[in-house]
Amino acid sequence: MTDDAASPTCLARPLGPGDSSTGCAAARGADGRPLHAAALKFFWGPMDCGKSTMALQMNHNHARQGRRGLVTTRIDRSLGPRVTTRIGLAHDAVEVTDDLDLLALVRGTWAEGVRIDYLICDEASFYTVAHVEQMAELVDGYDVDVYAFGLATDFRSCLFPAAQRLFELADEVARIQVEVLCWCGREGLLNARVVDGRVVREGEQVVIGDTVDTADVRYQVLCRRHHRTGDLGPRA
Ligand SMILES: [Zn+2]
Repeated sequence: MTDDAASPTCLARPLGPGDSSTGCAAARGADGRPLHAAALKFFWGPMDCGKSTMALQMNHNHARQGRRGLVTTRIDRSLGPRVTTRIGLAHDAVEVTDDLDLLALVRGTWAEGVRIDYLICDEASFYTVAHVEQMAELVDGYDVDVYAFGLATDFRSCLFPAAQRLFELADEVARIQVEVLCWCGREGLLNARVVDGRVVREGEQVVIGDTVDTADVRYQVLCRRHHRTGDLGPRA
């Protein structure tokens, strides 16, 4: 997946001398790089579907083409300002707090002489709705691409507010296609919160847990059927 492939109409092509096509005449920047309409894209899926891995892969792909980006996260499993992945990749990141303004972050970085072409926003469902509005403003007002990655729903199977706003505002929404399986073999769709071996359905929307069996609070991906019945399978 590349963002260029999904860009509308005006894909860059070299303009020859005398090429008077008007529609794409402004499609290249002063440095000769193709310009494209910036976009807000939301990639979502349950735990373990590889969201952070895909976020870092996308960052790598864009950086390799000479684009400059920032990686942001909130409540990464490392509990630090880093994006870490279950398969061992890691990248420094800006920790998003309630009062962090993404516009100010980008403008401040520009002011230091560092161009920012895109943001990779990992764990975006834990951001605030205001952050999502800022993402849209970065795209529309500043021509910065924003790629957000996160869960859609919480442990009760209800949308996170930021995820809802992303579904409402994003130019493109994609479910990540790496299948995660429930213990029964069906496709895993929902995250269950497990406390003392039981699925809980009430509590704070965000509680840090782990996916290892020994954690006090842990999360397990289940199919809808077993999320509804609370059946954690034979190993539980
Ligand atoms: Zn199941």
